[in-house]
This record gives sequence, structure tokens and C-alpha cells, in this order.
Amino acid sequence: MTAARLDGTVIAGQIKQDVATEVARLAKIGVKPGLAVVLVGTDPASQVYVRNKVRTCEQLGIYSEKHDLGAETTTEELLALVNRLNGDDKIDGILVQLPLPKQIESRTILEAVVPEKDVDGFHPINVGRLVMGRDSLVPCTPAGIIEMLDRSEVTIDGKYAVVIGRSDIVGKPVSLLLLHRNATVTICHSRTKNLAEITRQADILVAAIGRPAMVTAEYVKPGAVVIDVGMNRVDDIEQARKIFRNDEKRISDVTAKGYALVGDVDYHGVNEVAGLLTPVPGGVGQLTIAMLMENTIKAAKLRRGIS
Ligand code: NDP
Repeated sequence: MTAARLDGTVIAGQIKQDVATEVARLAKIGVKPGLAVVLVGTDPASQVYVRNKVRTCEQLGIYSEKHDLGAETTTEELLALVNRLNGDDKIDGILVQLPLPKQIESRTILEAVVPEKDVDGFHPINVGRLVMGRDSLVPCTPAGIIEMLDRSEVTIDGKYAVVIGRSDIVGKPVSLLLLHRNATVTICHSRTKNLAEITRQADILVAAIGRPAMVTAEYVKPGAVVIDVGMNRVDDIEQARKIFRNDEKRISDVTAKGYALVGDVDYHGVNEVAGLLTPVPGGVGQLTIAMLMENTIKAAKLRRGIS
């Protein structure tokens, strides 16, 4: 038996369809949601993410602005832009692409975005609302994971969920979202002892670690739902061979592109044990942009008091 595949591309398509419908509904009352995406520097991965975000806005009828700032930008200069966007009525969501260059105080910038336009859900006010279980703008990747479980008809209520990773971006918020949906949640991290013993009890296992293929079959209870958040670049051909077994197509990514994208879960091994499993690529990563679009719509409605 192999696990059923939780297809992020299909689910992201459904979410985007729903967003497009909502954009059309808002257009009828004269509202066009707007997203500003801010990129500082020339990190190639960030450039790709930003381009994809802007392109998705265009596809769905959301107004978008891309602000490209040089790598030498100071905290004060970036702050001035954020403040301008805070006061711009065309803009409902402000996304500052991370990571920012070292000279910029990231926390200062993220806290400068007004909570109503914080479509990344990183502002302490939105984090506080999330902790309290109040309606808020929730970080996109964790929100996407819940959306994926819901749309795949996975019951969360009463289930035992184990999250590996405690970052502010993924581990903590997804744990809180699962808790608010009445899962019993354990959060694990690099100091957790006997990790596999804990994860083997999970009905829902979320891996947000940043270590290629670390979660092997022995970490997984038979039939469990396994969500792989990891996005790791593997550039070593021997490591790729080990991870992809005999899948020559995936191995050839390393020779063709210089790296292969690998999750935190050992897909081939866990596939034999899990009940449902997200692939990488084509899993959770697909949902992050879709949820950003959904958050932009939500911010547009919240700001105008539209239900
Ligand atoms: P962080 O590095 O911020 O956090 C990683 C977490 O994993 C930490 O809490 C760390 O523990 C824990 N950890 C590290 N090593 C181990 C170990 N050996 N055993 C148990 N726990 C361990 O990463 P992020 O949360 O930002 O991202 C996690 C992964 O998800 C990355 O691969 C990232 O690329 C990917 N990602 C994917 C997204 C998507 O759209 N699909 C979006 C965001 C992230 P400790 O706290 O003790 O250090």
C-alpha cells in the first residue's frame, strides 16, 4: 500500500478560483483589492517568489505593485516606503519579501506594517490574535496547511497532531491553528528527546524543519497524514541518489539545474507507511501564494467592514 497524494497544485487551483470569484463580487461594489510586494536586493530565490506573487495577482484580478529596492537600502529608507504604503488607499496588503539584507532591522520593518495590511500575519498584534483564537490575518503557509486538510476532508478535531519545528513562520502558527481546531498538539524541535517515539503516535504529522528527507518511515504511524513543509535544495548527486532511490528524472535535476528540491520527509520511505502525504514540489509550497491572495481579499474586506 502506498499513501494517497495530497496534491497542492489542485487545492491551490481551487483556492485561486474562489479568490477570483470573490474579486468579481467585490468589483460589483467598486472594490479592487491591492497588494504591494517589496523586494530588497537581488536574491534569486526571492526574485522568483516575488514574480510569482505579482503574476498570480494579475491572473486573479488583484491590483499589485512591485517595489524593487537596491541591496544597499537602509532600514530608514525601507521604513519610509512601508509608511507610504500603510497610508495608500489602493493597497490592502503589504508583503515585504524575506530574508532582508543584513543591514536592515527586519523586526522593525515587520512591525511597521499596519496590522490591517499585514498579509503575512507576522505583526505582533496579529500573532496575539492568533494565540487568542480571534479572527486575524494568519501566516500563509500554516493557513494553507489547514486549508489543505479541510479541502481533503481530513478530520482535525480530536486528532493527535505532532509538529516538528517551532519557528514563528510555520511551526508555532500551524500548531496554534491545529489547537484551535481541537487537535491535541505536541510541538517538537531540535532539543526534543526521542523524536521518533513521539512522532510515531501522530495522526497528523507536520514536518517544518529544513533538513532534507529527515523524517523517515520509522517516524510515521501507519495510515498517518503527513504534511511536508520543507523546501530544501540538495546539490550533492550522491545525497540525491539516496533520497530519490532510482528516480532518474529527479536525480537529473541536480545535473541539469544544479540542485533538486527536497522536502523534510523521505518521500519514498514514508509513502509506504503514511495514509496521506504531500509531495515536494507540488505540495504545501503551492498553497502559500494562494493563501496570500486569500489574505489580501480578507484584508480588503476587513479594512472596509465588508462581510
Ligand atoms: P526554521 O529554521 O526557522 O525552523 C526550523 C525548526 O526545525 C526549528 O524549530 C528547529 O528547532 C527545528 N529543527 C531543526 N533541526 C531539527 C532536528 N534535527 N530535529 C527536530 N527539530 C529540528 O525554519 P522554517 O520554519 O522557516 O522552515 C522550515 C522548512 O519549511 C524549511 O525547509 C523552509 O524552507 C520550509 N518552508 C516552506 C514554505 C513553503 O511555502 N512550503 C514556507 C516557509 C518555510 P530549534 O527551534 O530548536 O532550532
